Amino acid sequence: MKIVVDRDKCEGLGMCESMAHEYFEVDDDDQVHIHNENPPEEDRKMVLAAVNSCPVLALSLEG
Ligand code: SF4
Repeated sequence: MKIVVDRDKCEGLGMCESMAHEYFEVDDDDQVHIHNENPPEEDRKMVLAAVNSCPVLALSLEG
């Protein structure tokens, strides 16, 4: 599975970080940074919850 970010949409709101800070971090530039784009299968539930928490639909999961 792969985390995909639409950087044109991300507003740095940080919901994803609060759901899964192991993978998502919002920097001072108000953009999300992904620590690991390819999470292991065991983290799918957590990553999916974070992806679905984004209010501007900037995140998606491939695979
Ligand atoms: S929740 Fe969405 S808008 Fe907020 S930092 Fe994450 S990707 Fe960006």
